[in-house]
Amino acid sequence: MSLENIGNEVYIRMNQAIIKKAVSGKREGIFHVSDLLEPKCLRNVFYSKTDPSPRMDMSTAKNFYCGNIVHDNSDLSSVEGFHEFNMAYNPVTDKSVDLQKALKEHPDQKDKFWYDVVIGTLDDLIMINGEYVIADKKTKLSKPETVLFGKQFDGIKPEHRSQLSMYRLMLNRTRNIDAKFGCIMSLDYADKFSNPKPQPFELEKIEVTRNKMLERLNVLKQSLITNDLPERTIIPWMCNEYCPYASLCFNGDGVKFA
Ligand code: SF4
Repeated sequence: MSLENIGNEVYIRMNQAIIKKAVSGKREGIFHVSDLLEPKCLRNVFYSKTDPSPRMDMSTAKNFYCGNIVHDNSDLSSVEGFHEFNMAYNPVTDKSVDLQKALKEHPDQKDKFWYDVVIGTLDDLIMINGEYVIADKKTKLSKPETVLFGKQFDGIKPEHRSQLSMYRLMLNRTRNIDAKFGCIMSLDYADKFSNPKPQPFELEKIEVTRNKMLERLNVLKQSLITNDLPERTIIPWMCNEYCPYASLCFNGDGVKFA
């Protein structure tokens, strides 16, 4: 056996381990908070729900892999049970959903029942000076020059504000807790997480978030029922670098799925 063979085999096994971990998390139901974020492209979400051959490139898999390692090893909550917990919510009825009971009663994950259920996993709920704060960790890889010149802090991204505001709504409806504040903790692979950046901010009002969630959920539901593509939301970095459906999307509006 050659040294090249050994190197290739170890390389393959490392990639297999990364892919296995990245795709290991089983997701219940149809819609998750990550599907409904503003300004996420709903056409991308539609494709992800209907594409019969889901795909993941190694770059995305590595991001998931590293993110999973961070989440599995960083409990920031001050109360037991407030780290990495699931919430299930029906924004149409504005009521909490008992996920385990619903899974027994509606075992078919394509059952229309699931069209009205949103599921989300909150990273950490922290009590600070009598106020609940929803914290969420985000890993990223900055370009070397931004690390060198200390330019990593680039404000709260709209999708992060949207995500934590949706958690506020769901936390309130599922546990009767009101968290008015959120905090994104940015961790950069480029500096080996040595310079974490907390970005605290005020969350949206609960009713405002519910209306936005309902609006986006209705577009997706309707698209799944009629098989009509939702409008594109052009986000250049997403379309150019991360969307695995670009070839379908830009291949004409006639692309449909059975
Ligand atoms: S390529 Fe862009 S517009 Fe098209 S589905 Fe993907 S994110 Fe949306």
